[in-house]
Amino acid sequence: MATIPSPHTFRGGIHPAYNKALAAAAPIRELPLPARLTVPMSQHLGAPAKPVVKAGDTVAGGQLVAEAAGFISAPVHAPAAGKVVAIEETLTASGRACAAVVIETAPEQVWQPLPTFPEWRFTDAKQLIEHIGAAGVVGMGGAGFPTRVKLSPPSDKPIDTVILNGAECEPYLTSDHRMMLEHAAEIRIGAEIIRHILGARSLRIAIEDNKPDAIAAMEKAFQDTDGDVAVTVLRTSYPQGSEKQQIFSVTGREVPRGGLPMDVGCVVENVSTAFAVFDAVVNGRPLVRRVITVTGDAIAQPANLLAPCGTLYSDLVAACGGVAGQAAKVISGGPMMGFAVSSLAVPTGKTASGLLLLSPKKISDFSSQACIACGRCVDACPMRLSPAELSQCIEADDIDGAEPLALMDCIECGSCAFVCPARRPLVHHMRRGKAVVMARRAAAKKTP
Ligand code: SF4
Ligand code: SF4
Repeated sequence: MATIPSPHTFRGGIHPAYNKALAAAAPIRELPLPARLTVPMSQHLGAPAKPVVKAGDTVAGGQLVAEAAGFISAPVHAPAAGKVVAIEETLTASGRACAAVVIETAPEQVWQPLPTFPEWRFTDAKQLIEHIGAAGVVGMGGAGFPTRVKLSPPSDKPIDTVILNGAECEPYLTSDHRMMLEHAAEIRIGAEIIRHILGARSLRIAIEDNKPDAIAAMEKAFQDTDGDVAVTVLRTSYPQGSEKQQIFSVTGREVPRGGLPMDVGCVVENVSTAFAVFDAVVNGRPLVRRVITVTGDAIAQPANLLAPCGTLYSDLVAACGGVAGQAAKVISGGPMMGFAVSSLAVPTGKTASGLLLLSPKKISDFSSQACIACGRCVDACPMRLSPAELSQCIEADDIDGAEPLALMDCIECGSCAFVCPARRPLVHHMRRGKAVVMARRAAAKKTP
C-alpha cells in the first residue's frame, strides 16, 4: 500500500470557498427515529420503484416495499418497522413529484435482514451482484446509478482499476469525510468486495489534499491490503469528485465524449456506496439510511446525521436545534450541484448528502446580464464545452443547435455559472436543454 500524489490534474475547474469547517468536526450522530417516514419511490436514477405494499400493511424494518421497475431501477425497503398509512405523491428535492410509501414507525422495532455472505471472497461475483441489487444499493455520491449495473460491465469492457471516490469536493458537505474517519474498516471491506466482483487488479482511494485526517484514516485501514493498492492524494479543486475528472486525475485516462468509465477500464464508487456494499453483503442490511450533513450559517448546530431514508428535512432541522435567525435559502445537497427547495416537507433519499441553510448575508440578489463574451466559462468548464454558446442556443429554444455542441456531456457542475461576470444562469439552461433532449429520446423510443 502506497500513498502517491495525483500524477495528473483535469483541465478547468474552480476554487470556491469550501466552508467545511462548520460540520467537519461533528461526529456522526444517529437521528432518533421519526414518527413518520415518507419513503420516495425515486431515490435512484431510472424508473421509479413499484410499490408492493398497500395502506394498512404492517412492515418490518428492511422489508421490501417496492420492487425495481426495470433494468435501470432499484428496489426500496422499509427503513423502519411500522404501519403503511398511505401511498401518496410527494415532492422530491429536485422539485419532481413521485409516489411515496408513508410509514408510521412502530415503538418496537422488528428487523427483517437479507441473507449475508461472510465468505464473500469465495462467493461467485454474479451472486454478489444480484444480492447488492436486491439490497437497493445505488451510487450515493449524487447520481444514484444502480450499483448492480455498474458492477456488471460487458465482457468486452474489462475493468482493471477501481477508484474509491473520497474527494467530496462539493463545498460545505462533510458526510463522506466523516464516513472515512469513522468507518474506514467497513469502507475497506466494501471496496475489496467491489474489487473482487470486478476482478480489478488495481485499487485507488482518491481523496483531496484538504482532508489529511481522512487520508491518514484510509492509509491505516488499507495498509495490509494485497495487490496494487494506493491512496491517491488529489489537488483540492472543484469538481475533483466528478467521475471523468477523477479518472483523469488518478490514471491519466480520458473517458471519450459520450463514453463511460468502463470504456477506459475504470469503475468509480463513492466511499459511502462502498460502505453500503459492505452493509448489504456482510450485515444483510439493505440501503435504507445514510449520513447527511446539515450545515450552513442559518442552522443552530451543524451536524452529520445518520438518518433513515424518508426522513423529512424538517425533522433534520429540528434535530440540529432549528434555524438560527433566518434561512434565506435552503439547498438540498451542496451549493454547486444542489437544488434550492421551497419547503422542508421534502423527504431524504439514498442520494441526499446534505442540507444547507444560508442566512440573508450569504445570499446576493443579482440579475443576469447579457453575455460579454469574456470566455471565462469556457476556461472553467471541466468538460471542455462552450457554455456561453450552449446557453445561447438553449435560450433561443434551438436544442438542435445545442446537441452537436455536446450538451449531453454537461455534468451540471456549475463551474461556468460560478465564474460568469454577467451572472448568467448557465446551469439552469443546461438542465433545461438536457431535459428536452431526454424527453425527445424517450418519446422516440415509444414511437413504433
Ligand atoms: S457547461 Fe456543464 S460541465 Fe461545463 S462548467 Fe457548465 S455546468 Fe459544468
Ligand atoms: S462567462 Fe458569462 S459573460 Fe463570459 S463568455 Fe461565459 S456566459 Fe458570457
